[in-house]
Amino acid sequence: MKYQAFLIKYAEIGIKGKNRHLFEEALVRQMKIALKPCEGDFAIHRTYGRVFVECLSDYDYEEVTDALQHVFGISGICPVVELPVIPIDELREETARYMKEAYPYEKQTFKVHARRMNKEYPVESMEVNAELGNAILEACPNLSVDVHDPDIMVNVEIREKIYLYSIILPGPGGLPVGVGGKAMLLLSGGIDSPVAGYMIAKRGVKLDAVYYNAPPYTSERALQKVVDLASQVAAYTGPIWLHNINFTEIQLYIYEKCPHDELTIIMRRFMMRIAERLAKEAECLGLITGESIGQVASQTLTALGVTNEVCTLPVFRPLIGFDKEEIIKVSKKIGTYETSILPYEDCCTIFVAKHPVTKPKLDVIKRHERNLEEKIDEMVERAIATDEIMIVDKNGARIIKEREGTLQV
Ligand code: ATP
Ligand code: MG
Repeated sequence: MKYQAFLIKYAEIGIKGKNRHLFEEALVRQMKIALKPCEGDFAIHRTYGRVFVECLSDYDYEEVTDALQHVFGISGICPVVELPVIPIDELREETARYMKEAYPYEKQTFKVHARRMNKEYPVESMEVNAELGNAILEACPNLSVDVHDPDIMVNVEIREKIYLYSIILPGPGGLPVGVGGKAMLLLSGGIDSPVAGYMIAKRGVKLDAVYYNAPPYTSERALQKVVDLASQVAAYTGPIWLHNINFTEIQLYIYEKCPHDELTIIMRRFMMRIAERLAKEAECLGLITGESIGQVASQTLTALGVTNEVCTLPVFRPLIGFDKEEIIKVSKKIGTYETSILPYEDCCTIFVAKHPVTKPKLDVIKRHERNLEEKIDEMVERAIATDEIMIVDKNGARIIKEREGTLQV
């Protein structure tokens, strides 16, 4: 079947007036980003209060529908057959042919729903329904009519052309990225943080990301794994600015100066501090982590409180009440799981203590952080100054600032 267009359905709840306009603009922008790497030419229209993708050349159906199925804000995608305004006899034939091809075997019920916006068309909607219903019944023995609760709604819109559609491919739902501002994701190579980023982005929030890398304790492959995860998330969100921070010096210094059972918690406090600095520079409105209550020692309520204490921006933890199984389910759905379970060490796993504190006391932690006084500020400054930045999209990464270099966008 050749479809010349896609009708985009989106949830309209709560998007009236001015917001609707912003919503649609953001949706179109994200759709353009998603379609850009696809083969073919497309035009996106906002007409009749809906969003429409017109295919101006040949294209790959799988590639295009897959790209659109990654755009937040889309609840459904209807492939549309476009016909010139043809007499009812020919429309009967075309509709029957379409239905036979789209629903060849399975027993299903249908209803024809015609709308005649073009009043010059000589046949009225009710009559079109009846004519096309009969044509389908004659051509497709596996289909029968159910006007109350049909499996298939055959939509026929008669405008300056005739649009025929019945298939609805599910979209990811949510809100288009960009309507909700921007936040900084702390992205590790694990299962959780990519899922956390996905969930916040699904609510319309654009993502920046930061990864703390500890070479030579962590390998190039650990970095590549994080870039790959960012790339998989970017298939939904559009390009992500990924900051790659060299954390080795800070980590070694903490290791040298602080009690080992407090390493993780102190390290996490520095990760949050640096993330917040980067976030503010990039005008992010919050931080995002993949933390979940009780998952590890550093994620007890007490530990989360101690980590949180260094932040002034809100920290969003969308997985906070999720079990690991639930998180894994989402990571499989969005395609990050297989990458997340690759073995390369991330910086946390190398310096973990055998018995980390589960109930860290803030005053004790602060006292031990004072052991770092002499050098930690300059180390933090250095880590931020030598930040490597790349723009990651679904096809890969492009470095825009080398470790010691200036930003080149
Ligand atoms: P994940 O599966 O996301 O790695 P985790 O279960 O391994 O999480 P932790 O290592 O305690 O848990 O990390 C908690 C959160 O801290 C992560 O979800 C992530 O947001 C952030 N984080 C941890 N390590 C790093 C890192 N090396 N770089 C950036 N963020 C990190
Ligand atoms: Mg981790």
